[in-house]
Amino acid sequence: MIIVMRPGATPKELGAVLRQVEAEGFRPHVSRGEETTVIGVIGDERKLQGAVFETLPGVERVIPVLKPFKLASRDFRKKDTVVRVGPVRVGGGTFTVMAGPCAVESPAQTLECARRVRRAGAAVLRGGAYKPRTSPYSFQGLGKKGLEILSRARRATGLPVVTEVMAVEDVGLVAAHADILQVGARNMQNFNLLDAVGRQEKPVLLKRGLSSTIEELLLCAEYILSRGNPNVILCERGIRTFERYTRNTLDLSAAPVIKKLSHLPVLIDPSHAAGVREYVPPLAKAAAAVGADGIIVEVHPHPEKALCDGQESLTPDEFDRLMAEIKPILKAVGLELSKC
Ligand code: PEP
Ligand code: MN
Repeated sequence: MIIVMRPGATPKELGAVLRQVEAEGFRPHVSRGEETTVIGVIGDERKLQGAVFETLPGVERVIPVLKPFKLASRDFRKKDTVVRVGPVRVGGGTFTVMAGPCAVESPAQTLECARRVRRAGAAVLRGGAYKPRTSPYSFQGLGKKGLEILSRARRATGLPVVTEVMAVEDVGLVAAHADILQVGARNMQNFNLLDAVGRQEKPVLLKRGLSSTIEELLLCAEYILSRGNPNVILCERGIRTFERYTRNTLDLSAAPVIKKLSHLPVLIDPSHAAGVREYVPPLAKAAAAVGADGIIVEVHPHPEKALCDGQESLTPDEFDRLMAEIKPILKAVGLELSKC
C-alpha cells in the first residue's frame, strides 16, 4: 500500500506514520517529492487495516496496491483451475452445461428431466432440495427426500448432481448426496456457511449475490479457498438493477472480468438472470460467446406445473434446440463441450 502525506505535513506527523507502519510489522520506504511525501509500505498489505493510517494526522490518503483477495487471484495462480466432478471437467477451455429443474418435486419429474438434459448434452444435473424462497408460503423444497431423489437420478443417468445447501448443519448431509454444493445468491456472504463448505471436500458452486460486486464475490471464494477447499466454481446469475422487464440484469461482463482477475471457472445462469423463458436461450448463447466456462439452466418437463420458477424454465424440447444452437458458438470461440 502507498500512504500519501498531505502537502505541508510536518516531520513529526511523518515520523508518527513511519512508527505506526513499523509497529504493524511492515517496512516503510519514504519517497520525498517537491510537494508531497509518499510512503511505500512493504509487506502483505492484506493483513493491514488501511483505515488505521487514514486517521493519522498529516495523511491525505491510502492507496492499496494488492488485490484484497489472494488465493482466488490470477496473480497467485496463472493457469486456469479445472474443477473435476467425477468424469466432468469444469474450466480450462471446456464449457460445462448444468441443467435441470429449479426444484426437485418428485422422482418422475427429476428423472425425466435428467434423462432429457443428458441426452441433449448436459454434463451435470441441477435441482434444489432446499429452496431459498422469498415468501415463507412458497414451496420450500423436499429437503432430505429431495436429496435422495437426486441420488437416484444420478444412479439412473450417471450425471453428477449440483444442489443448494442453505444451512451449516446440512452441509454433511447435502455433501453425502451431491457432487457439487451450491451456495445460492442469497447466502453468498453467509460466512459461517462459506467456512463450512470450505472445510469439506466436494466442489462448491458459489453464486454472486443479488447486490454484490465482483470483488465481494471473489472475497467469498477466498473464504472457501482459505479453509482448504480449492474446488470453487463461480456463477454470475444476474444482479438487481432498476430494470423491470427482466428478473435481474445479467452482467455478462462478469465472465471476462472474473477470468482476468481469477483462475477460477465462472458459469453463467441465464435462467435466474432473465426470469423469462424466452430470454434464456439468447443469454445462454451470449455466455458461450463471452467465454464463460459454462451455464446452469433451468429445465422442467412441464413448466406450467412447476412448483418453482416455471416461468423461466425451458421445456426439454427448447433445451434440445438451445444445445444445438450453442455448439457452433463453442466451436467459434474454441471451447470444448464438457462430457459426462
Ligand atoms: C437456484 O439456482 O436454484 C437459485 C435459487 O438461484 P440463486 O441463488 O441464484 O437465486
Ligand atoms: Mn430457480
